[in-house]
Amino acid sequence: MDSLQHHLAHTLKTQRSARGWSLTQAAEATGVSKAMLGQIERAESSPTVATLWKIATGFNLPFSVFIEPPAVDSATPRRQQQGYSAFDSAMQVFPLFPFDAALNFEMLVIELAAGASSASAAHERGVIEHVIVIEGELELQVEGQWQRLAAGEGVRFQADCAHAYRNAGTKPVRFHDLIHYPPR
Ligand code: MN
Repeated sequence: MDSLQHHLAHTLKTQRSARGWSLTQAAEATGVSKAMLGQIERAESSPTVATLWKIATGFNLPFSVFIEPPAVDSATPRRQQQGYSAFDSAMQVFPLFPFDAALNFEMLVIELAAGASSASAAHERGVIEHVIVIEGELELQVEGQWQRLAAGEGVRFQADCAHAYRNAGTKPVRFHDLIHYPPR
């Protein structure tokens, strides 16, 4: 079994018991079925990126917490090597800088295949996303309004409302997503 699946299973189980939630309560909080949550906890199944986002949002936890252990200070250069794509190759997420609990942010590199889109539920109050396009063209929807971002352009928005990302182009789009979480 790969270590990513293992880490995910362990994190989900630990976070759920820390809240004293049953699988039913966790399903209500995340919108992910009880059966699916059970399978993930037993490392029998890898969620799609979309499912993992739902879980992270329902638990009010940063996405990268489920992918790798918290950041430690290190001057070793990090690189986008291995994305998290599980069963959908249409979207890959790589935590360039995993969640830092002292600074309350994570920085992800996200790649969306041509024609792919991803809808995100509202994050908890106070979450702010900074989206900077590196390559390709991204369409971003915030509060019902679509806007187009070219490579080199960035936008910052309050992410405590529904938002979505879309690649209407014919080439993959790659962007940075720096997500700031409210202090605990
Ligand atoms: Mn989001």
